[in-house]
Amino acid sequence: MNYVFEPERQVAVPMAGSDALFPVRRVYCVGRNYAAHAREMGFDPSREPPFFFCKPDNSIVVAPPGQTVDVAYPSQSSDYQHEIELVVAIGKAGRDIPVAQANDHVFGYAVGLDMTRRDLQLSARDKGRPWELGKAFDESAPIAPICAAAQIGHPTTGAVWVQVDGTDRQRSDIAKLIWSVPEVIANLSMFFELRPGDLVYTGTPEGVGKVARGQTMRGGIDGVGELSVRVV
Ligand code: MN
Repeated sequence: MNYVFEPERQVAVPMAGSDALFPVRRVYCVGRNYAAHAREMGFDPSREPPFFFCKPDNSIVVAPPGQTVDVAYPSQSSDYQHEIELVVAIGKAGRDIPVAQANDHVFGYAVGLDMTRRDLQLSARDKGRPWELGKAFDESAPIAPICAAAQIGHPTTGAVWVQVDGTDRQRSDIAKLIWSVPEVIANLSMFFELRPGDLVYTGTPEGVGKVARGQTMRGGIDGVGELSVRVV
């Protein structure tokens, strides 16, 4: 078989403390999954069903441990914002997965950033248009290495935080997720067959805000990892 040009290389995220790579398939994201963030975005955080959007696999930027990775300030935006999130890495296929079995489908966990062109997202939202221009751009999903659930278990509490140039911007706890990881997996799998390689960004707590060129975001989740990303 001859491709008419060389296909893009498989996107992959390293496993923490190992040479093994997690090959990325689809990147799902949950919207408004912390009450205080729903409120800061102008919404009632009542427990309406979770909703989802996607990013392409080329949104992934690996932030290697102990290093700072560069991402480019995106085009067509003057309101580029950080959203620190727990990311779930799926290791087993399934659809209509019951909540009680959802953890069996989790390969591991990572900390990631759902970088957002907030101006484009809000204008799309207000016009009833899709969110891709605000959410699905190149390098919009930095992520740290994935910790295997076989090693760290399935965390349900732990600080989630991000600092910009050393100043706290977001600080909460993954215990405050409106929809827990098993509930997110159960709900998402009603709409899509989940497959090994899928990543799910589970939503961000309050405190989202702008970053400018030259600034560095350092974030983490207790027991899951840390990442450092500089905007250039
Ligand atoms: Mn988000």
